[in-house]
Amino acid sequence: MDLNAILKNLKNCPCGKCHTCDVKTVEIGSGLLQKTAEILKNNNFPTDILVVADKNELRAADGILDILTQGGFNISPLIFEDLRVAEYAESERIAALSREKGGILSIGTGSCNDICRRAAFVENKPFAIFATAPSMDGFASDSSPLTANNFKISYPAKQPDIIIGDTAVLAKAPAELKSAGFGDMIAKYTALVDWKIANLTIGEPMCERVADVTRQGLMRAVSLADRVTAEDEETAGAIFEGLILTGMAMQLGKTTRAASGAEHVVSHFWECKKLEQGLLSDFHGKKCGVATLMVTRLYKELAAMENPVFVSDQTDWDTVYAIYGEHFRSEVEKFNTPTVTDETSPEILAKVWPEIRRIILEELPSVEKLTELMQKAGCATTAKEIGVADDLAVTGLQYHPYMRHRMMLTRLVPMFKDVEPDWKTLAGI
Ligand SMILES: [Zn+2]
Ligand SMILES: [Zn+2]
Repeated sequence: MDLNAILKNLKNCPCGKCHTCDVKTVEIGSGLLQKTAEILKNNNFPTDILVVADKNELRAADGILDILTQGGFNISPLIFEDLRVAEYAESERIAALSREKGGILSIGTGSCNDICRRAAFVENKPFAIFATAPSMDGFASDSSPLTANNFKISYPAKQPDIIIGDTAVLAKAPAELKSAGFGDMIAKYTALVDWKIANLTIGEPMCERVADVTRQGLMRAVSLADRVTAEDEETAGAIFEGLILTGMAMQLGKTTRAASGAEHVVSHFWECKKLEQGLLSDFHGKKCGVATLMVTRLYKELAAMENPVFVSDQTDWDTVYAIYGEHFRSEVEKFNTPTVTDETSPEILAKVWPEIRRIILEELPSVEKLTELMQKAGCATTAKEIGVADDLAVTGLQYHPYMRHRMMLTRLVPMFKDVEPDWKTLAGI
């Protein structure tokens, strides 16, 4: 992957920001597993390292520990049984374990990378990832969504210095994980729309060139929709590259906006609520894909209105706090004091509505088109398929905005006069 070409294109960006990226090397190719030690050494990665994986991931990267040892690395492996939740406490444990080590190598995908990336940030250690599945876009990210007390928030984290993706390994990943990766890519449609809306309504900075890095990854994934589930090295490699591009866009723009919008927050809401009951959630990208469909239904419905009347924020806070419950109350209060709609007004919304409407009508694919793409790629398209109960699906779609201080079109619904969406239908129930 030509990182220099991407960075060159972002030089002297008209947005005024200096776009930099800490990732030094992204190697994607067939048979790279055997060359892991060599690649790390060639990039001056320390040889005394903490290696973190779970058992499934270690099986996918079969033989990697021996390859490292034979390649001259002194490794301390930390192997989890099954790492489905990225716990903040685990990131602290890894940070402590890495203290005497030169660097951290994470073998895996979502949760494993998330806890390692945070640990590497806390201890300021060189950090590398050997990817085992193209299942989500967090590989190049500089933030970690971690769970503490069942509440999931993003913490500052370290971008990996090196990312290795062996297409033979990636292609063999379970179809469900590859489809999840596609779901995380599809989410960029609504994410980019929300970024633009935040720019128009509260003046949040937006960079079109960074958004284009995301679009590039998105288009690549979309063009391969019907090959996602096949055991095909070329497709797995291309999807992986798309996921890296969008992850990188977050770092380049210094905002998660380039990769996540309302659909990600909906997914986090479901996850938190399920965790509260001690239930594990489905894969990140799988949930985000389903949420993207729901959010798109809402956005298309709102955009059908040519001249809506806007009023001050009519949020019923008693209901909001009741929905979140005592457990999450202090977090929700923190994110809403002040609340993000204080930064805009009915007048501003009326002024920018034609532009918001145009973006939704022109840049967001239709619900039918999205559904078709997702089905081709083997993605889940309903709440049922991701184990989210009907009422949770609906409350998540309606009340997720309050778990962030973040402008999204979903957060503006209470500023539309006399508009009460049929949340059940929008949630596909
Ligand atoms: Zn820019
Ligand atoms: Zn994501």
